[in-house]
Amino acid sequence: MEEERHREWPPALHFALVPLMTQGHIIPMLDLAHQLALRGVLVSFITTPFNASRIRHTIDRAAARRLPIQFVELPFPVHEAGLPPGCENFDTLPKTEMYITFNEASSKLLSRPLELYLEQHRSDVMVSDFCQPWTRGIAERLGIPRLIFYSMCCFALLCTHQIWGHKMLERVVDENEPFAVPGLPKEHVIKLTKAQAPGFFPGPAFMQMDKDVREAEFTADGVIFNTFYDLEPSYVSGYEKAMGKKIWTVGPLLSHSQSVVDMAMRGMKASIDTERCLAWLDAMMPRSVIYVSFGSLTRVAPSQMMEIGLGLEASGHPFIWVIRSKEELSPEVEEWLAGGFEARVRSRALLIRGWAPQAVILPHPAVGGVMTHCGWNTILETIMAGLPMISWPHFSDQFYNERLIVQVLKVGVAIGVKVPNYIGMDDIETLVKREQVEERVRTLMDGGPEGKERRRKAAELAETAKEAMEEGGSSHSNLTHLIEHFSGSRCK
Ligand code: UDP
Repeated sequence: MEEERHREWPPALHFALVPLMTQGHIIPMLDLAHQLALRGVLVSFITTPFNASRIRHTIDRAAARRLPIQFVELPFPVHEAGLPPGCENFDTLPKTEMYITFNEASSKLLSRPLELYLEQHRSDVMVSDFCQPWTRGIAERLGIPRLIFYSMCCFALLCTHQIWGHKMLERVVDENEPFAVPGLPKEHVIKLTKAQAPGFFPGPAFMQMDKDVREAEFTADGVIFNTFYDLEPSYVSGYEKAMGKKIWTVGPLLSHSQSVVDMAMRGMKASIDTERCLAWLDAMMPRSVIYVSFGSLTRVAPSQMMEIGLGLEASGHPFIWVIRSKEELSPEVEEWLAGGFEARVRSRALLIRGWAPQAVILPHPAVGGVMTHCGWNTILETIMAGLPMISWPHFSDQFYNERLIVQVLKVGVAIGVKVPNYIGMDDIETLVKREQVEERVRTLMDGGPEGKERRRKAAELAETAKEAMEEGGSSHSNLTHLIEHFSGSRCK
């Protein structure tokens, strides 16, 4: 169990954390809340009733451990913002187009209640997810220093910053013509296409959001990253220099010293009994299993699902396959799974329909590799587990992350997709054939000199990640400096 330090009560410093209401942003912000609370900082964690119900176990455990975290459930009457009932998280939205409505709803519905809360419970620092630019006005009105939180790598952020600064998206005409990202540290030439790197908020519909997010970042008092310095030193320094403001790299924030039950309830209750999952893994050979998951938002088309399944089957390796979205769990897919596939792979496959206890699965010794959509949290969790990856980016920062793990860190092999696959696209094609899935899985799992070298690098990175979070490590020290920085300004 985590070491419970002697804590001052009432805590000397109060941080208000405002996550974006989506799993990949809530989970790392919760991890940040825990790390701050363990250092004796009072944390107000802003949430909404539905999202709070998903993390009820985490809320109860924090209370039982007397951690100074207040979970603040602000009302979120979605119907007032034109959203269907119950849509309090990105993964509950029926259509992609509603993303904009959801962003507007966050600002419209949460601004006033958050400001009222902070007027009554003054915080010393506000930490806002980068996608919550509307918090800027509240911090300015109340005179609270505001930090931006990214559960992303500095590599991706520096790339987007330079592409934007050098107007590359205006200068490059061909959507699919690779161009070298300008202004990066000299040691790597990173090439992307316009289609792969449209920024986090692509197209005219997101223009205002893009502008607001940029301005909120330029005017912030600093930036917190869920990454660690030794993972990407020149990109951390490069980003800090490019932005001209203080950044704190404090990751990986996930603490493996929590109990298995707490890890299994991370983000929400897992859809599979964790004991059953662990028993299945215990029965497998060390490093033999490939874990396949595409995160909390990606939606894989039924035809693509079948190619993935058939490729995994042909690879001959045991696998855990997480099937989540409504497209993936469509009657068409279920029929195909039941029509022979599940029976054929029963002895060496575990299919998880819904939410997987990923933080419990990845560190298990039977897991030997991960096929990922390249979400940053999953990449960090895979790095912590010391595992190589197959990268299958879909959208957002995922193509940048692929370059980092394949080209810079050399712990990944690319599945080979060249174009993005946005959430909910009705015409999502089958991009990767079964033969390609099979070949990439074999390449990753079967060793050979290159495979061995990838594993050696992955193990080395896991060690570096661990050191970063240990006392005296870079991320541990940065969190101390962050707290001291604001404790100092509070005394003035
Ligand atoms: N996750 C999980 N079970 C699932 C799917 C996702 O525990 O079935 C967790 C995963 O461990 C990670 C987060 O949800 O912490 C997903 O974040 P990531 O950045 O990888 O991807 P996103 O979902 O934001 O695209």
